Amino acid sequence: MRKLDLAIVKLASCSGCLNEVLYSLVSRQELLKHLDILYFTEFQDLNDVKEVDLAIVEGSVATSEHEEFLKLVREKSRLVLALGTCAVYGGVQSLRVGEDLRKVVEASYPNPSFIEVLPDVKSVDSVVSVDYKLPGCPVNGESLARLLVKLALGGSETPIVENLCSECKRRGVFCVTVLSGKPCLGPVVMAGCGALCPSFGRGCYGCYGLSTLVVDRERLEEFLKTLEKFGVGRDDLVALLKAYSYSSLSKLIAR
Ligand code: SF4
Ligand code: SF4
Ligand code: SF4
Repeated sequence: MRKLDLAIVKLASCSGCLNEVLYSLVSRQELLKHLDILYFTEFQDLNDVKEVDLAIVEGSVATSEHEEFLKLVREKSRLVLALGTCAVYGGVQSLRVGEDLRKVVEASYPNPSFIEVLPDVKSVDSVVSVDYKLPGCPVNGESLARLLVKLALGGSETPIVENLCSECKRRGVFCVTVLSGKPCLGPVVMAGCGALCPSFGRGCYGCYGLSTLVVDRERLEEFLKTLEKFGVGRDDLVALLKAYSYSSLSKLIAR
């Protein structure tokens, strides 16, 4: 059987999702036999690669170099997977959007004159077309492995169109809001992590991103008002949504 040729690409990100990729692959030797990594970020020159079946892209687009590189990735890839919350929504670097960019750069880098970033932070799908999205900060390695198995065997992944509460119900996890009065973003957040935080008695803070498939602007506003009654400040909520759902939030606001 022909192997699935991969390019593993990094843009603006912390490499946490790439760690999940590596862990997911090295702990699945059977799966590895069906994959060929033709490009791994920083190890090879993408210009030397003619074509891959799947580009796995971690990170968001924060510079014009990222933008050009991502277009090259798209040209050379039959399929593109946006991996992790940075790639799918923009990620924590979106917190700088709307702030004084120069001040943010000066506060973050010892030599700010070397830094040239775009004023906005772009998700991968706002620059090139994307075939698959797996959010999560970091992404769930199990979900990635399932997708790779399906693609290697010639199938396609089933999209997730439900919110996190569905996973609590399926797993029999008690609702932390109902049981302990803790605020939880689960009703408006994408499923996919297996209700990780509620299963440890914590509320979800939204690292899988807002589900615009199940939430519209009015519902989100009502939900945020409800959370404020639990004592969660509006500024904190907006910061969470910006950090983990920037591109979805922008689409909701634009509607
Ligand atoms: S999604 Fe989270 S873990 Fe993944 S690269 Fe971005 S910040 Fe890191
Ligand atoms: S704990 Fe959170 S995600 Fe789970 S059912 Fe309750 S509100 Fe929904
Ligand atoms: S419960 Fe929420 S914050 Fe926790 S891992 Fe899942 S999506 Fe992320």
